[in-house]
Amino acid sequence: ATPTALLVGTGRGAQLGVLIKGPEILEETRRVDTVVLDKTGTVTAGRMALVDVVAAPGEDAAEVHRLAAAVESLAEHPIARAVAGLDRRLTDEEETASPTPQGASRHSSPAASVRDQVDVPVGADGVAIGADEVREFRADAGRGVSGVVRTAHSGVGLARRVLVGRLGWLDEQGVRTQDVADTVAAAEADGATAVVAAWDGRARGVLVLRDPVKPTSADAVRELRELGLRPVLLTGDNRGAALATARTVGIAEDDVIAQVLPDEKVAVVERLQTGGARVAMVGDGVNDAAALATADLGLAMGTGTDVAIEAADLTLVRGDLASAPQAIRLSRRTLRVIR
Ligand code: ADP
Ligand code: MG
Repeated sequence: ATPTALLVGTGRGAQLGVLIKGPEILEETRRVDTVVLDKTGTVTAGRMALVDVVAAPGEDAAEVHRLAAAVESLAEHPIARAVAGLDRRLTDEEETASPTPQGASRHSSPAASVRDQVDVPVGADGVAIGADEVREFRADAGRGVSGVVRTAHSGVGLARRVLVGRLGWLDEQGVRTQDVADTVAAAEADGATAVVAAWDGRARGVLVLRDPVKPTSADAVRELRELGLRPVLLTGDNRGAALATARTVGIAEDDVIAQVLPDEKVAVVERLQTGGARVAMVGDGVNDAAALATADLGLAMGTGTDVAIEAADLTLVRGDLASAPQAIRLSRRTLRVIR
Protein backbone atom coordinates (compact mmCIF):
# COMPACT_ATOMS: atom_id res chain seq x y z
CA ALA A 1 0.00 0.00 0.00
CA THR A 2 1.09 3.54 -0.56
CA PRO A 3 0.91 5.43 2.73
CA THR A 4 0.68 8.68 0.77
CA ALA A 5 -2.73 7.79 -0.70
CA LEU A 6 -3.98 6.81 2.77
CA LEU A 7 -2.85 10.10 4.22
CA VAL A 8 -4.56 11.98 1.40
CA GLY A 9 -7.70 10.11 2.41
CA THR A 10 -7.45 11.19 6.03
CA GLY A 11 -6.72 14.76 4.99
CA ARG A 12 -9.83 14.84 2.82
CA GLY A 13 -11.68 13.31 5.77
CA ALA A 14 -10.72 16.27 7.92
CA GLN A 15 -12.14 18.59 5.26
CA LEU A 16 -15.43 16.68 5.35
CA GLY A 17 -15.55 16.94 9.12
CA VAL A 18 -14.43 13.36 9.74
CA LEU A 19 -11.47 12.83 12.05
CA ILE A 20 -9.72 9.50 11.66
CA LYS A 21 -7.52 8.13 14.48
CA GLY A 22 -5.03 6.61 12.09
CA PRO A 23 -4.75 5.76 8.37
CA GLU A 24 -5.02 2.02 9.13
CA ILE A 25 -8.63 2.60 10.20
CA LEU A 26 -9.64 3.17 6.58
CA GLU A 27 -9.12 -0.52 5.92
CA GLU A 28 -11.83 -1.40 8.48
CA THR A 29 -14.41 0.94 6.98
CA ARG A 30 -14.29 -1.01 3.74
CA ARG A 31 -15.32 -4.28 5.32
CA VAL A 32 -18.30 -3.34 7.49
CA ASP A 33 -21.72 -4.62 6.40
CA THR A 34 -23.90 -3.66 9.38
CA VAL A 35 -24.27 -0.27 11.02
CA VAL A 36 -25.64 -0.05 14.55
CA LEU A 37 -27.09 3.38 15.28
CA ASP A 38 -27.64 4.66 18.80
CA LYS A 39 -30.95 6.53 18.88
CA THR A 40 -30.71 9.41 21.36
CA GLY A 41 -28.25 12.06 20.21
CA THR A 42 -27.19 10.11 17.13
CA VAL A 43 -30.33 9.68 15.01
CA THR A 44 -32.33 12.16 17.09
CA ALA A 45 -31.25 15.61 18.22
CA GLY A 46 -30.61 14.34 21.75
CA ARG A 47 -32.27 17.46 23.05
CA MET A 48 -35.46 16.22 24.57
CA ALA A 49 -38.39 18.56 25.07
CA LEU A 50 -40.73 18.15 27.99
CA VAL A 51 -44.19 18.14 26.41
CA ASP A 52 -46.45 17.12 29.28
CA VAL A 53 -46.60 16.46 33.01
CA VAL A 54 -49.41 14.11 34.03
CA ALA A 55 -50.10 13.81 37.77
CA ALA A 56 -51.26 10.53 39.34
CA PRO A 57 -54.80 10.70 40.82
CA GLY A 58 -54.81 13.04 43.80
CA GLU A 59 -51.38 14.46 43.01
CA ASP A 60 -50.36 17.94 41.91
CA ALA A 61 -48.64 18.22 38.49
CA ALA A 62 -46.82 21.38 39.54
CA GLU A 63 -45.29 19.62 42.55
CA VAL A 64 -44.36 16.57 40.45
CA HIS A 65 -42.61 18.85 37.96
CA ARG A 66 -40.87 20.93 40.62
CA LEU A 67 -39.45 18.01 42.63
CA ALA A 68 -38.40 16.08 39.50
CA ALA A 69 -36.69 19.21 38.16
CA ALA A 70 -34.83 19.70 41.44
CA VAL A 71 -33.25 16.23 41.24
CA GLU A 72 -32.68 16.31 37.46
CA SER A 73 -30.90 19.66 37.73
CA LEU A 74 -27.92 17.65 39.04
CA ALA A 75 -27.97 15.06 36.22
CA GLU A 76 -26.55 15.25 32.70
CA HIS A 77 -28.82 13.06 30.57
CA PRO A 78 -30.87 14.82 27.82
CA ILE A 79 -33.97 13.81 29.82
CA ALA A 80 -32.53 15.59 32.85
CA ARG A 81 -31.83 18.79 30.92
CA ALA A 82 -35.38 18.88 29.57
CA VAL A 83 -37.04 18.16 32.92
CA ALA A 84 -34.84 20.69 34.72
CA GLY A 85 -35.71 23.28 32.06
CA LEU A 86 -32.12 23.73 30.85
CA ASP A 87 -32.89 22.97 27.21
CA ARG A 88 -34.80 25.14 24.83
CA ARG A 89 -38.20 23.89 23.75
CA LEU A 90 -39.17 22.42 20.38
CA THR A 91 -39.62 24.92 17.59
CA ASP A 92 -42.78 24.58 15.47
CA GLU A 93 -40.67 23.11 12.67
CA GLU A 94 -39.16 20.43 14.88
CA GLU A 95 -42.56 19.67 16.36
CA THR A 96 -43.78 18.76 12.85
CA ALA A 97 -40.64 16.74 12.19
CA SER A 98 -40.89 14.77 15.44
CA PRO A 99 -41.34 10.98 15.10
CA THR A 100 -45.06 10.86 15.74
CA PRO A 101 -47.35 13.47 14.26
CA GLN A 102 -49.61 15.39 16.58
CA GLY A 103 -52.37 12.89 17.19
CA ALA A 104 -55.52 12.70 19.24
CA SER A 105 -53.62 11.58 22.34
CA ARG A 106 -53.62 13.96 25.24
CA HIS A 107 -49.95 13.11 25.72
CA SER A 108 -48.84 14.81 22.55
CA SER A 109 -49.69 18.35 23.54
CA PRO A 110 -47.19 20.91 22.28
CA ALA A 111 -44.35 22.03 24.52
CA ALA A 112 -45.92 25.37 25.31
CA SER A 113 -48.89 23.68 26.97
CA VAL A 114 -46.72 22.66 29.91
CA ARG A 115 -46.78 26.30 30.78
CA ASP A 116 -50.57 26.42 30.84
CA GLN A 117 -51.19 23.11 32.54
CA VAL A 118 -48.52 23.27 35.17
CA ASP A 119 -48.55 26.06 37.65
CA VAL A 120 -44.81 26.31 38.01
CA PRO A 121 -42.77 29.43 37.33
CA VAL A 122 -41.35 28.38 33.96
CA GLY A 123 -39.44 31.19 32.33
CA ALA A 124 -36.68 31.56 29.79
CA ASP A 125 -34.25 30.61 32.54
CA GLY A 126 -36.03 27.35 33.31
CA VAL A 127 -37.73 26.04 36.39
CA ALA A 128 -37.32 27.86 39.67
CA ILE A 129 -36.01 25.37 42.17
CA GLY A 130 -34.94 27.97 44.67
CA ALA A 131 -36.85 26.61 47.67
CA ASP A 132 -35.66 23.05 47.14
CA GLU A 133 -32.30 21.72 48.19
CA VAL A 134 -31.07 18.37 46.87
CA ARG A 135 -28.74 16.04 48.77
CA GLU A 136 -27.49 12.49 48.26
CA PHE A 137 -27.94 12.68 44.50
CA ARG A 138 -27.47 9.37 42.70
CA ALA A 139 -27.60 8.56 38.98
CA ASP A 140 -28.20 5.00 37.82
CA ALA A 141 -27.17 4.90 34.12
CA GLY A 142 -29.95 3.85 31.76
CA ARG A 143 -32.45 3.68 34.62
CA GLY A 144 -32.96 6.94 36.48
CA VAL A 145 -31.88 9.35 39.20
CA SER A 146 -32.70 10.01 42.85
CA GLY A 147 -31.99 12.55 45.57
CA VAL A 148 -33.28 13.77 48.89
CA VAL A 149 -35.16 17.01 48.24
CA ARG A 150 -35.53 19.28 51.21
CA THR A 151 -38.27 21.88 50.82
CA ALA A 152 -38.39 24.82 53.22
CA HIS A 153 -41.98 25.62 54.24
CA SER A 154 -42.13 28.74 56.37
CA GLY A 155 -39.11 27.62 58.35
CA VAL A 156 -40.13 23.94 58.62
CA GLY A 157 -38.09 21.54 56.49
CA LEU A 158 -39.72 18.66 54.60
CA ALA A 159 -37.28 16.05 53.23
CA ARG A 160 -38.31 13.45 50.64
CA ARG A 161 -36.27 10.95 48.62
CA VAL A 162 -37.44 11.64 45.08
CA LEU A 163 -36.85 9.10 42.29
CA VAL A 164 -37.19 9.89 38.59
CA GLY A 165 -36.72 7.14 36.05
CA ARG A 166 -38.13 4.40 33.94
CA LEU A 167 -41.16 2.56 35.25
CA GLY A 168 -39.47 -0.86 35.47
CA TRP A 169 -36.63 0.56 37.58
CA LEU A 170 -39.13 1.98 40.09
CA ASP A 171 -41.02 -1.35 40.15
CA GLU A 172 -37.77 -3.13 41.04
CA GLN A 173 -37.42 -0.86 44.05
CA GLY A 174 -40.88 -1.67 45.32
CA VAL A 175 -42.45 1.64 44.33
CA ARG A 176 -46.22 1.44 43.79
CA THR A 177 -46.63 2.35 40.11
CA GLN A 178 -50.13 1.04 39.25
CA ASP A 179 -51.59 4.55 39.20
CA VAL A 180 -49.34 5.72 36.37
CA ALA A 181 -48.86 2.53 34.32
CA ASP A 182 -51.62 3.38 31.80
CA THR A 183 -50.30 6.91 31.29
CA VAL A 184 -46.79 5.58 30.61
CA ALA A 185 -48.08 2.90 28.22
CA ALA A 186 -50.17 5.43 26.27
CA ALA A 187 -47.31 7.93 25.98
CA GLU A 188 -44.88 5.22 24.81
CA ALA A 189 -47.35 3.82 22.29
CA ASP A 190 -47.51 7.37 20.94
CA GLY A 191 -43.74 7.39 20.37
CA ALA A 192 -42.81 9.51 23.39
CA THR A 193 -40.38 8.83 26.23
CA ALA A 194 -42.09 8.72 29.62
CA VAL A 195 -40.32 8.85 32.98
CA VAL A 196 -41.98 8.48 36.34
CA ALA A 197 -41.47 10.65 39.44
CA ALA A 198 -42.00 8.97 42.82
CA TRP A 199 -41.57 9.62 46.52
CA ASP A 200 -42.62 7.91 49.74
CA GLY A 201 -43.06 4.60 47.91
CA ARG A 202 -45.60 5.83 45.36
CA ALA A 203 -45.47 7.05 41.78
CA ARG A 204 -46.71 10.65 41.78
CA GLY A 205 -46.72 11.53 38.11
CA VAL A 206 -45.35 11.04 34.61
CA LEU A 207 -43.09 13.39 32.64
CA VAL A 208 -43.58 13.00 28.88
CA LEU A 209 -40.71 13.92 26.55
CA ARG A 210 -40.05 14.02 22.84
CA ASP A 211 -36.79 14.04 20.95
CA PRO A 212 -37.02 15.17 17.32
CA VAL A 213 -35.23 13.17 14.64
CA LYS A 214 -32.43 15.25 13.08
CA PRO A 215 -33.41 16.57 9.63
CA THR A 216 -30.49 14.78 7.91
CA SER A 217 -30.93 11.36 9.56
CA ALA A 218 -33.38 9.80 7.08
CA ASP A 219 -31.17 10.62 4.08
CA ALA A 220 -28.10 9.35 5.93
CA VAL A 221 -29.79 6.02 6.66
CA ARG A 222 -30.82 5.69 3.01
CA GLU A 223 -27.23 6.37 1.88
CA LEU A 224 -25.83 3.83 4.33
CA ARG A 225 -28.22 1.30 2.84
CA GLU A 226 -27.12 2.23 -0.68
CA LEU A 227 -23.52 1.52 0.42
CA GLY A 228 -24.66 -2.01 1.21
CA LEU A 229 -24.95 -1.60 4.98
CA ARG A 230 -27.84 -2.92 7.06
CA PRO A 231 -28.93 -0.27 9.60
CA VAL A 232 -29.89 -1.39 13.11
CA LEU A 233 -31.36 0.99 15.73
CA LEU A 234 -30.14 0.43 19.30
CA THR A 235 -31.47 2.27 22.34
CA GLY A 236 -32.05 2.23 26.06
CA ASP A 237 -35.35 3.99 25.44
CA ASN A 238 -38.72 2.22 25.26
CA ARG A 239 -39.84 0.26 22.19
CA GLY A 240 -42.63 2.70 21.26
CA ALA A 241 -40.23 5.65 21.01
CA ALA A 242 -37.68 3.49 19.18
CA LEU A 243 -40.25 2.30 16.60
CA ALA A 244 -41.46 5.86 15.97
CA THR A 245 -37.86 6.96 15.26
CA ALA A 246 -37.22 3.87 13.10
CA ARG A 247 -40.30 4.59 10.97
CA THR A 248 -39.21 8.20 10.47
CA VAL A 249 -35.76 7.25 9.15
CA GLY A 250 -36.71 4.02 7.37
CA ILE A 251 -35.30 1.28 9.58
CA ALA A 252 -37.19 -2.04 9.58
CA GLU A 253 -39.09 -3.00 12.74
CA ASP A 254 -37.07 -6.23 12.97
CA ASP A 255 -33.88 -4.16 13.15
CA VAL A 256 -34.97 -2.18 16.24
CA ILE A 257 -33.38 -3.22 19.54
CA ALA A 258 -34.91 -1.23 22.41
CA GLN A 259 -34.73 -1.02 26.20
CA VAL A 260 -31.12 -2.13 26.23
CA LEU A 261 -29.22 -1.33 29.43
CA PRO A 262 -25.88 0.52 28.98
CA ASP A 263 -23.78 -2.57 29.79
CA GLU A 264 -25.84 -4.66 27.33
CA LYS A 265 -25.03 -2.55 24.27
CA VAL A 266 -21.66 -4.32 23.97
CA ALA A 267 -23.41 -7.70 24.08
CA VAL A 268 -25.66 -6.66 21.17
CA VAL A 269 -22.61 -5.74 19.06
CA GLU A 270 -20.90 -9.01 20.01
CA ARG A 271 -24.01 -11.01 19.16
CA LEU A 272 -24.12 -9.46 15.67
CA GLN A 273 -20.40 -10.21 15.24
CA THR A 274 -20.88 -13.82 16.32
CA GLY A 275 -23.62 -14.07 13.69
CA GLY A 276 -21.01 -13.15 11.08
CA ALA A 277 -21.63 -9.41 10.74
CA ARG A 278 -18.84 -6.84 10.41
CA VAL A 279 -20.19 -4.10 12.61
CA ALA A 280 -19.84 -0.33 12.50
CA MET A 281 -21.39 1.44 15.48
CA VAL A 282 -22.36 5.13 15.64
CA GLY A 283 -22.94 6.64 19.08
CA ASP A 284 -22.48 9.67 21.28
CA GLY A 285 -23.05 8.73 24.90
CA VAL A 286 -21.06 7.45 27.86
CA ASN A 287 -23.34 4.43 27.45
CA ASP A 288 -22.07 3.84 23.93
CA ALA A 289 -18.32 3.93 24.66
CA ALA A 290 -17.81 0.20 25.30
CA ALA A 291 -19.88 -0.76 22.25
CA LEU A 292 -17.94 1.73 20.08
CA ALA A 293 -14.69 0.09 21.18
CA THR A 294 -16.04 -3.43 20.58
CA ALA A 295 -17.41 -2.72 17.11
CA ASP A 296 -15.15 -3.38 14.10
CA LEU A 297 -15.46 0.33 13.40
CA GLY A 298 -16.55 2.90 15.99
CA LEU A 299 -17.89 6.29 14.89
CA ALA A 300 -18.51 8.95 17.54
CA MET A 301 -20.57 12.09 17.21
CA GLY A 302 -18.31 15.11 17.70
CA THR A 303 -21.13 16.64 19.71
CA GLY A 304 -21.10 13.64 22.04
CA THR A 305 -19.24 12.84 25.23
CA ASP A 306 -15.42 12.69 25.42
CA VAL A 307 -15.57 9.04 26.50
CA ALA A 308 -17.39 8.10 23.29
CA ILE A 309 -14.93 10.10 21.15
CA GLU A 310 -11.94 8.43 22.83
CA ALA A 311 -13.42 4.95 22.33
CA ALA A 312 -14.16 5.48 18.63
CA ASP A 313 -11.99 5.13 15.51
CA LEU A 314 -13.63 8.03 13.71
CA THR A 315 -15.22 11.25 14.93
CA LEU A 316 -18.02 12.89 12.96
CA VAL A 317 -17.07 16.42 13.95
CA ARG A 318 -20.36 18.07 13.01
CA GLY A 319 -22.40 15.58 14.96
CA ASP A 320 -24.33 14.88 11.79
CA LEU A 321 -25.18 11.32 10.73
CA ALA A 322 -24.78 12.45 7.09
CA SER A 323 -21.00 12.33 7.68
CA ALA A 324 -21.15 8.55 8.30
CA PRO A 325 -21.88 7.49 4.68
CA GLN A 326 -19.43 10.20 3.51
CA ALA A 327 -16.68 8.71 5.66
CA ILE A 328 -17.33 5.20 4.38
CA ARG A 329 -17.52 6.32 0.75
CA LEU A 330 -14.30 8.34 1.12
CA SER A 331 -12.35 5.46 2.60
CA ARG A 332 -13.54 3.05 -0.07
CA ARG A 333 -12.42 5.52 -2.75
CA THR A 334 -9.08 6.02 -1.02
CA LEU A 335 -8.47 2.27 -0.93
CA ARG A 336 -9.34 1.92 -4.62
CA VAL A 337 -6.59 4.44 -5.39
CA ILE A 338 -4.10 2.31 -3.47
CA ARG A 339 -4.95 -1.04 -5.03
P1 ADP B 1 -30.36 6.00 25.15
O1 ADP B 1 -29.76 4.67 24.81
O2 ADP B 1 -31.58 6.26 24.31
O3 ADP B 1 -29.35 7.11 25.07
P2 ADP B 1 -30.24 5.68 28.09
O4 ADP B 1 -29.65 4.30 28.14
O5 ADP B 1 -29.33 6.78 28.43
O6 ADP B 1 -30.95 5.93 26.65
O7 ADP B 1 -31.50 5.75 29.06
C1 ADP B 1 -32.50 4.76 28.99
C2 ADP B 1 -33.69 5.11 29.84
O8 ADP B 1 -33.30 5.25 31.23
C3 ADP B 1 -34.35 6.42 29.50
O9 ADP B 1 -35.23 6.31 28.40
C4 ADP B 1 -35.08 6.71 30.82
O10 ADP B 1 -36.24 5.93 30.92
C5 ADP B 1 -34.08 6.24 31.86
N1 ADP B 1 -33.21 7.35 32.31
C6 ADP B 1 -31.89 7.51 32.05
N2 ADP B 1 -31.41 8.64 32.62
C7 ADP B 1 -32.46 9.24 33.24
C8 ADP B 1 -32.65 10.46 33.99
N3 ADP B 1 -31.65 11.32 34.23
N4 ADP B 1 -33.88 10.72 34.45
C9 ADP B 1 -34.89 9.89 34.22
N5 ADP B 1 -34.80 8.75 33.53
C10 ADP B 1 -33.61 8.41 33.04
MG1 MG C 1 -27.08 8.52 22.76
